[in-house]
Amino acid sequence: MLKRIFGAALGSLALALTPAAAQDTSAAGPEIWRLDCGEILVTNLNVFSDSYLYEGRQKRLVDSCYLIRHGDRYLLWDTGLAPRMLGQTVEQGVFRMTLRERIGPQLARINVRPEQINFVGISHFHFDHTGQLADFPGATLLIGAEDWEVLRSGQGPEGLATPFRHWIDGGGTAEPVARDHDVFGDGSVVMLDMPGHTPGHHALLVRLRGRAPVLLSGDQFHFTEQVRNNGVPSFNTDRADTLASSDRLLSIARSLNAELIIQHEANDVARLPAFPESAR
Ligand SMILES: [Zn+2]
Repeated sequence: MLKRIFGAALGSLALALTPAAAQDTSAAGPEIWRLDCGEILVTNLNVFSDSYLYEGRQKRLVDSCYLIRHGDRYLLWDTGLAPRMLGQTVEQGVFRMTLRERIGPQLARINVRPEQINFVGISHFHFDHTGQLADFPGATLLIGAEDWEVLRSGQGPEGLATPFRHWIDGGGTAEPVARDHDVFGDGSVVMLDMPGHTPGHHALLVRLRGRAPVLLSGDQFHFTEQVRNNGVPSFNTDRADTLASSDRLLSIARSLNAELIIQHEANDVARLPAFPESAR
């Protein structure tokens, strides 16, 4: 304990003696912006349950992406719907989708260029998370190793791997993530292994300085009601893994007092400041 207090005192002394300009800006902790990456009307909500939980219902979901700054480095978390949906309503099965604005112009509003994105983290390989990935060819791709294996080996349905082609063909750097991955090496931004929705599905923990940690769900849940009634989508790859991952995600939220943001749930996304405001 003494050592900890002494260490902390020394730490703040060192900080006080460092000229402001020379301080590493990452010492301020990460900063997060939420981005609008589309909207999805689900005309048969029951696809999100293998147990007939949501029969005869429809629901509007949002498609959100996130920019996280750590010092002078950037991580983009998920890349939303495809540019072909810009200003259109595109129907695909039970989904009616539209994209209001691409990620690039949104980043431009906060003076961030696509070339400044060091990492693109993809929660999982589904199309509503990978639509604009190709706009960031210089970024290192972070994706669950099991998802990467499906893409690389061409096992998935037709078109699944298309957004990843640049990285699969060796044009860009890919870092498949086995288990958890500490993105910036200081524990502030961590990809969390949450298999079940897809084999390599991940959530993202962002530990902010000025407010509770944020837990970005990936698609562990798609809307709030699923948390309460354990809604497992019928298209998930593994039911048991999904339930175990839900248990882990909720357990992490409790132990860290973190704010769980379900990425497709409009009410959750709205709890983060409206773009271009950020949280830190
Ligand atoms: Zn999704």
